[in-house]
Order: sequence, then structure tokens, then C-alpha cells
Amino acid sequence: MHLLNPLNPALFTAQPQLAAALAPFAHQQDDLLVGGKTPAQIAALLDAEVFYAYDRAAITARVQALRAALPARVKLHYAVKANPYFPVVHWLASQVDGMDVASRRELVLALQSGVDPTQISFAGPGKTDAELKAAIAAGCVVHLESAGEMRRLQALCLQADASARVALRINPEFELRASGMKMAGGAKAFGIDQAQIWDLLPELQTGPLQLVGFHLYCGSQNLQADAILQSQRQSLQLLAQLRPHCPQLQFFNLGGGFGVPYFPADKVLDLAAVGAGMQQLFAEFADAVAGLEIILELGRYLVAHAGVYFSRVIDVKTSHEQQFVVTNGGLHHHLANSGNFGQVVRRNYPVVLANKLTLAPVAPVQVVGPLCTPLDILADKVALPAAVPGDWFAVLQSGAYGASASPQGFLSHGVVSEILL
Ligand SMILES: *Cc1c(COP(=O)(O)O)cnc(C)c1O
Repeated sequence: MHLLNPLNPALFTAQPQLAAALAPFAHQQDDLLVGGKTPAQIAALLDAEVFYAYDRAAITARVQALRAALPARVKLHYAVKANPYFPVVHWLASQVDGMDVASRRELVLALQSGVDPTQISFAGPGKTDAELKAAIAAGCVVHLESAGEMRRLQALCLQADASARVALRINPEFELRASGMKMAGGAKAFGIDQAQIWDLLPELQTGPLQLVGFHLYCGSQNLQADAILQSQRQSLQLLAQLRPHCPQLQFFNLGGGFGVPYFPADKVLDLAAVGAGMQQLFAEFADAVAGLEIILELGRYLVAHAGVYFSRVIDVKTSHEQQFVVTNGGLHHHLANSGNFGQVVRRNYPVVLANKLTLAPVAPVQVVGPLCTPLDILADKVALPAAVPGDWFAVLQSGAYGASASPQGFLSHGVVSEILL
């Protein structure tokens, strides 16, 4: 049975984003199921009591929803940074059209996942010579982030008697409105300023590098279709200016930035509106995009909803009338949930007691982890059913920027287990 129909209206009223977060999952009586398994079954599979579980069907459904909503010509790339757990990367290789990597190890993961190497793009400022050599060896596209990087890659290609397909990552004059993390516009470490692009074009169209694409990445975690479309419009205007000067162009990477609803006030991104808007933009900029692959690179939007971070309740206690639920999971595994991964104000992720889904919430509790720091908060004054030691506490929307984005060595509690089901 599916959780789309709220099991527990009181709980859903207290946390409106919870309904969206639970929608991908089924349940069996009071147990939340990930890939058809209860928390206890997953714990038995992993021999662990703290773990991330990812739901394969939820990832697949998300890719299908994107394909249904977006114009057919749009190619989907997965940004490995969001979740580099190899079974997830490997599964996505069969679902998407390419991958974006930002380190040599991510490149090797993508290659091993079976994705076509020519559909891997390697971005990121500060690529070392070793990383550029790896990119040449892989035969992937290098997204150049500076003139200096371009010259180093040229020299390495000449040394190796090789050539490389490259794209220029442009730092445009505009910014992405309403974005959780802005990565373009103004002085930025990413990409090459729009004004500097023209000088590089002649140098790029001779020698061992082949300019096959442009890349604009304006920002992450955007929940507003109109803001995303506005930055795409500005990106396409720029493409229209550049296109006549770049005869070998094969693709235009429009970035992504599609956000997911983590917090109570967050709205779900209107994917249908994004799709319809993109269709219109492609008609309007028909000459600029003619014959080009149009790529969207998405990280969290493909995986965040599919992941749940489970931990076990170790203790329940009261301090000055506030009830504390202490679990064996914390910010060392899930930094973003603690509010310390780029957020300005800490807000609660959607959370449940994964073995008490249908029980009514009692007075708000403070859920904390085992670390000796007041930062180790899993949920701040959240309505949960009465908790006892042994219960399973679950943080939803946890499939991106979880294990790999957390300080797992901090306080030496050990690393977290992961599983794709
Ligand atoms: C981080 C990043 C992404 C993925 O961002 P999400 O918010 O997870 O979608 C994609 N492209 C680039 C260049 C990035 O730096």
C-alpha cells in the first residue's frame, strides 16, 4: 500500500512537506518500506543500525517523470557529486544519457558504471595535470574553467600526441534568481567570464583541442520554474551570439539546478511548467539550438527523494521539560540535515519514526545524535509518536549530499552503511 494517502493526518498537518517526501514509498502496517524492505530487514541485510537506504524504483520513476515532462530532445546527465555510491551511479548509468564528474575518482566511477565515455563531462575549478591526463585517457569532454587550464590541457595533449574534446564553462553576466546556492554571475571561481570567452575562441579552434560545447551552471536547489526558465532564456541568448563563431559545436549544457522540497515552506518544483517553458524556448531560439544536443545536468533532483537515512533510538530523556530522543545517527553521517551544509538557518528535514507510521504524534521532541556538540541536531521540536529505545528514526529526502558530504571521521563513531534496494 502506498503512503500517498496520508496515514496519519495529524502528522501531515504538522509537517506539510512530509506528504511529498513519503510519496515514493510504500509501507507495511507501521513500517516504512524502502525497496520493499522494512527497517529491520535492511538492518539485517547490512548488519548495521545506522544506514542510508536508496529506493531504485523511486530513482527510475523520477527519470521517467522528467522524460515525460521535458522536450524529447533534452538529454539528462547525472551529476555524480550528489551521490557517488557506486550502485546508485551504476543504476543511473542505465537510466540517463551521460554523467558529470568533478574529480578523477568520480570520473573512474562514471567510466566503470558503463556510461559512454564521450557522454561524460569533467567540470570543476582546479583540475590538476593528473586529472587532465585522466580525462584525456578516458576520452571524456573537459569543461574548461580558465584560460590557464585550457593551455595546460593543450600542452598535455601535445605531449601525449592526443586530442581532447572540450567545452567552455561560461560565467555569464546574469545570476540565477531564487537559487539556494548561486554559482554564476559576478566574480566567481567557476567558469570563464562571458567577456573573456571571445578572446579564447580563436585559440580553441586550432591545435589539439576541439571545442564541442558550452556549459552554463547558474546554481542549485531552485524550486521556481519561472526562475529556472529565465536563466535558460538568458543562456540561450548567449548561445545565439556564440553559435556563428563555433562551427564544430555539438552540445549546449544548460545546467540544471532543479530543487527538491526539504523544508516545511518548500513547494514542489512544477516540472510540467519547466517542460512547457523549455519547449517554447527551443522554438524561439530554433536557429541557435538547431542540430545541438541540449543537456540538463541534475544531481539531487534524481536521487534526493529516493534516499532515507535510518538510525536507531538509543535513549529518551527529559531536560527542563523538553523531551530528547537520542539516536545513534547524527551530523557525522548527515551534515546537511543538521543545517551545517550551506544553510543560513537550520530547518527540519521531513522525518518519521519508520516503525510507527500510523501512530499519532505527541508533544514536540528534540531529536539529537550521539556527538558531543550542540550542533548534532537531527530534528528540532518535531511532532513524533512517543519514542522508545529501539525505534527507527528516519530522515527523508536524504538521497543526495548525505554520506559523501559529511565529516564521517568526526568523533570516530565509524562510517555509515549504504544500500540500494
Ligand atoms: C553541484 C553541481 C551539480 C548538481 O547540483 P544539484 O543541485 O545536486 O542538482 C550540477 N552541475 C554542477 C556544475 C555542479 O557543480
